Order: sequence, then C-alpha cells, then structure tokens
Amino acid sequence: MFQERRINLKTPAEIKIMREAGRINASVHAKVRELLQPGVTTADLNAAAEETLKSHGCVSPFKGYGHPPYPASITVSINDEMVHGIPHPKRRLKEGDIVSIDCGTVLDGFVADSAFTAGVGHISEQAQRLLEVTEAALYAGIKQMRKGRRTGDISAAIQKHVENHGLHVTREYTGHGVGRDMHEGPQVPNYGAAGTGLLLKPGMTIALEPMVLIGTHETRVLPDKWTVVSADGSLTAHFEHTVAVSEGEPQILTVL
Ligand code: MG
Ligand code: MG
Repeated sequence: MFQERRINLKTPAEIKIMREAGRINASVHAKVRELLQPGVTTADLNAAAEETLKSHGCVSPFKGYGHPPYPASITVSINDEMVHGIPHPKRRLKEGDIVSIDCGTVLDGFVADSAFTAGVGHISEQAQRLLEVTEAALYAGIKQMRKGRRTGDISAAIQKHVENHGLHVTREYTGHGVGRDMHEGPQVPNYGAAGTGLLLKPGMTIALEPMVLIGTHETRVLPDKWTVVSADGSLTAHFEHTVAVSEGEPQILTVL
C-alpha cells in the first residue's frame, strides 16, 4: 500500500492563495506550450518556466525535491517517458513527439501542481487519441470531487474512462493532497472501486493526475533515478489539475 500522509483541510483564505498559485502555474504552462516546436531543447522549456515563475516572484517546489534532489523546475517527459523526465540542453523535441510538462508553483507557502501533454507538430492518430482519453479521464475524476463522495469514486471514474478506451492506468503513481506540501494526504490512485476510500470534505485540495499508457500499466525507472518510462516502450500521457472540494461544484485551481 501507499504510505498515507497527513490530510490538511484548507480555509477559504488558503484556497484563495492556492488559486493564485494555480493561475501562475497555468501561465507557466501557457508559456511552455508556445515553445513546443521541433528543435527546442527540454532545457529551453525549463528555462522559460523558471523565467515565468521568477517574474511572479515564485519558485517551483520540484527543484531540490527528493533523492537524488530533482535538478530542475519542471519535468519534461517525451513519448514513452511517463513522468519525471529531467530537462537537458542536448534533448531536442522532434516533429511527432508527445511531451508531458509537469510544473508546480509555490506562492506564500502554498503549492499548486498541474500537468499537460501536447504534441509537437503533427502527431499520430494513436497519440492524439491517447491525449484525448487521458485529459477526459482527468475531468471524469474531477467530476467526482464533491462533498460526500469518496476518493475511490475519483479513482474508479478515472480507471473506467481509460479502460473503456482500451488503455491502461499506472498503478505505482497517484494523485495526492496538495497545499503547504506538494505531497499531502490523501493518496488518490488512478484505479480503484467506487464507494471506497476516504470521504471528501470541503477544504480538501487534491492534485488529480491520470497517467495513461497504451501497451500495459507497467513502468520502470531509468538509471537517472527519476525518469519513469513505460516498460514496453509504448506511448504515455499525463494530465493533472489541483482541485478543491467545496460545498458545491469542484473548484479547479490550476487554470488562468
Ligand atoms: Mg505534478
Ligand atoms: Mg502531482
């Protein structure tokens, strides 16, 4: 089982700060998205993200995170790389690649975390479908982010959407509570049974993040100890939003 971390309910004032952090994070995404062209290096993308964060007086919670310390402000994961790809000045995007960008923003001690996957130039029909199914799975999960539902409802909605399209959800990497720490409780796996898990309450803020693979759900970590790739080399995609549970509709915090 996953190690369970503390769940911190946020006050409306804290959610307001996270909403602002989320807006800045979305502006970083927009900046990086503009640059997704053949020939651009993944280090260029990281530099642009850092510049945008800096212009808002913010930093990324990714830099220095974990063991070994993560060396950059965003992760850039190409094709079979699912998550945690490390930017590099020699790694250039090519026509037809699909690129997952994950970015976090810390503002006034609170974290917003979101990710998207997009194509470079023209991409295959199979890749396009993978992106569409993964993004729709995220929104299927977000729809369950309501008072009175359970974390298993989110997990089941994501898994069902993905598997109905003949694709696979990761087992090892999960959505998570987010706030003062990038990773708080509860863990929200991308698979599970409806009606199980923790009851959702207003003030919970969770980063939902379906990671989807075409071939099988199996992954492995490269020798750099960060980059996670599909075990069979098939394409993968990743979409993520930080979302707050409210008295009513789910509140997506990581949008412009
Ligand atoms: Mg993320
Ligand atoms: Mg996350």
